[in-house]
Amino acid sequence: MTPVNAYAAQSATTPLTPFNFERRDVGTNDVQIEILYCGVCHSDIHQARNEWGGSIFPMVPGHEIVGRITKVGSGVKKFIVGQLAGVGCFVDSCRTCPSCLANEEQYCDNGMVATYNGRDKAGNPTYGGYSTQIVVDEKYTLHVAESLPIEGVAPLLCAGITTYSPLRHWNIGKGHKVAIVGLGGLGHMGVKFAASFGADVTVLSTSKSKEQDALNLGAHHFAVTKDAVTMKSLQGKFDFILSTISAPHEYNDYLNLLTLNGTMVVVGVPPQPSIVGAFNLIGKRRSIAGSLIGGIKETQEMLDYCAEHNIVSDVEVIKVSAINEAYERMLKADVRYRFVIDIASLK
Ligand code: NAP
Ligand code: ZN
Ligand code: ZN
Repeated sequence: MTPVNAYAAQSATTPLTPFNFERRDVGTNDVQIEILYCGVCHSDIHQARNEWGGSIFPMVPGHEIVGRITKVGSGVKKFIVGQLAGVGCFVDSCRTCPSCLANEEQYCDNGMVATYNGRDKAGNPTYGGYSTQIVVDEKYTLHVAESLPIEGVAPLLCAGITTYSPLRHWNIGKGHKVAIVGLGGLGHMGVKFAASFGADVTVLSTSKSKEQDALNLGAHHFAVTKDAVTMKSLQGKFDFILSTISAPHEYNDYLNLLTLNGTMVVVGVPPQPSIVGAFNLIGKRRSIAGSLIGGIKETQEMLDYCAEHNIVSDVEVIKVSAINEAYERMLKADVRYRFVIDIASLK
């Protein structure tokens, strides 16, 4: 066992504070990773504050992990010591169900093992990337290119794949009018990917102050959703809407913006449900769908795509001691566009 420095939430109502625990020794198929950067996802807040229920405390959040391999097990074939590696939202799954066999481990019938706030196959709680080191089976570990700034790569492991996957699944590209709703960590990656795939991209935001950033990120248009006149003028305009909103809101307001046969994919996970009106769907044969991160194979494909096209997240690097303040800023939609913890500040 190796002692590890971390930051943890001890309960749903207390701030994150320093915490020490031990990681397992490297098993036959494991790699040990010295963590360099870890992104801060809004799911970290939802879970640390037990907004979705079932949280396990103490909780070490963090599932946007990039680091360097420091040790490999005797059976490891994909990695060697010294290479960069990434870990996303899960570290294991059953490996035998139809979803796992189809490289969609995130939809594992027996439940994937979440990187944190989960339990491994032995029943022990999992601890995430707000920590100095992690041990992961190589099958659930990603290759990271040396050519990109790695603090900008870390958020690709969740915000990146969560937006890349639905855009690919629904074959979004040239000729599609796409709206990305919410310009935060997920939203800004959604803009980059949708624009890179050739779509005509509109950002729908509550923050007028993000307009220029949206255009710089690759969006072609920007609209403020609080403006009823603008929202009315956008009715029936989009083929595809990707909603990344983290707080409770009305789905119907956005469904009405879809064109005939349009699809709205929900990736944001507000704790409370939203009502969907039948009339909002039937009038134009609209669909509403959801999407959860992406499998290991697709995550690697996304990372390779980013390396090839020079795509990284726009980040604000923070020390771990600033994590509670970062959470408060995210709750005010004041993040441009992903906080990333410099794990050197934990040593
Ligand atoms: P984030 O960086 O905090 O961004 C969320 C954005 O939503 C905000 O910046 C804001 O953008 C918008 N927003 C916030 N409150 C709003 C409200 N009341 N009405 C309308 N818009 C609002 O969060 P994130 O890390 O991107 O995560 C977003 C959501 O996705 C979270 O719920 C998270 O748990 C979920 N998530 C899901 C998956 C998945 O696999 N499906 C994976 C990761 C995260 P504007 O300022 O532009 O309005
Ligand atoms: Zn996440
Ligand atoms: Zn499975």
